[in-house]
Amino acid sequence: MDTKIKIKDRFFTPYISREKIAEAVGHIASQINKELAGKNPLFLCVLNGAFVFAADLFRELTIESEISFIRMKSYEGMRSTGEVKQIYGLQQDITDRTVVVVEDIVDTGFTIQQLMQQLKAHNPKEIKVATLLFKPDSLKCDVKPDYVALSIPPAFIVGYGLDYDEQGRNLKDIYVVAE
Ligand code: IMP
Repeated sequence: MDTKIKIKDRFFTPYISREKIAEAVGHIASQINKELAGKNPLFLCVLNGAFVFAADLFRELTIESEISFIRMKSYEGMRSTGEVKQIYGLQQDITDRTVVVVEDIVDTGFTIQQLMQQLKAHNPKEIKVATLLFKPDSLKCDVKPDYVALSIPPAFIVGYGLDYDEQGRNLKDIYVVAE
């Protein structure tokens, strides 16, 4: 694996190798193949960060399934009450469907909480959450991802779709910010 890299003003060191990521993604794909068989789940990839993970996860699935792409955007003018994000790009009718939200990372959990609340308003049968990374020690909401590829401590990471100021998404391995 490569050594220390620089992105903009910060240094990052190798943290999770592409082999370890592939193994973890394969593991949750097997779980999903077992648990959601026969339900024709609709995977909703949350752009931008989850696109690499979603592509790899989806190709490990052997069950009948569909994929689509959404985005959570900040709602302007609500700063005083905290950042409110809204779903953009939901094209499908999700009524009575099994939906699997595909996230890059669950950190405080606010994004996924708001996303789940808004999806529930469309009356799906059930909503599952699959995340590449989970920072359990940073969690500030009552959310529990159903499929977690890798749990990590609360440090800032980049690579495999995740960015630092829009850079670093193309890295094949995951890097952690150097102190
Ligand atoms: P949450 O709402 O705090 O759970 O944050 C979710 C979003 O914050 C993720 O979808 C990422 O886009 C971003 N994020 C959180 N932690 C990191 C990190 O360590 N690296 C890059 N992006 C992060």
